[in-house]
Amino acid sequence: MREKSARIGENARASRRVPVHDGRVTRKRLHRATGDRPAPFWTTKTLAEMTDAEWESLCDGCGRCCLQKLEDEDTGRVHLTVVACALLDVRTCRCSNYAERARYVPECVRLRPDNVASLVLPTTCAYRCLAEGRPLPAFHPLLTGDPRTVHTAGASVRGWAISGRDVPDEDLEDYVVALSEGDDRGS
Ligand code: SF4
Ligand code: SF4
Repeated sequence: MREKSARIGENARASRRVPVHDGRVTRKRLHRATGDRPAPFWTTKTLAEMTDAEWESLCDGCGRCCLQKLEDEDTGRVHLTVVACALLDVRTCRCSNYAERARYVPECVRLRPDNVASLVLPTTCAYRCLAEGRPLPAFHPLLTGDPRTVHTAGASVRGWAISGRDVPDEDLEDYVVALSEGDDRGS
């Protein structure tokens, strides 16, 4: 087994591209809130119980799960890069063709209640938060009512992600920025 260097791109043999969404956790039912106003759905339903619209609204649009990752074939460690999927609009941090993404990016894994725990997701991702029994982050648009707060809080890839259209696959190792190991399944 090789020694890992500080600069992944030089010595680590990152050979296999990892599905964009990739991880493991157990879903927990959160307690129903009390008070006059109805408790928000994400506090009363499990991920599996949510409607499609509720499920989709959980995505804060951070774009972090759309960053490309490399797996070191010697260690199995997943390395995050600043290079986004070619379909990600790095300005809006949204998929530019969400409806047809499977056609153009077959390795894009559809998030489901039963695979959230096994995918590489940032700690702030709402799906991961709920799956781990944690509340939504304070910047989440469902709490603030403003989709921009994911950006103003610095939680999105806006301003630093590079479009995959501009980086050849063979150069990806030069853009590794962080390790993903243990409980840190993403960023
Ligand atoms: S990491 Fe989670 S919240 Fe962010 S874009 Fe991906 S699915 Fe949405
Ligand atoms: S296809 Fe769209 S949703 Fe899938 S990783 Fe690429 S930008 Fe993200």
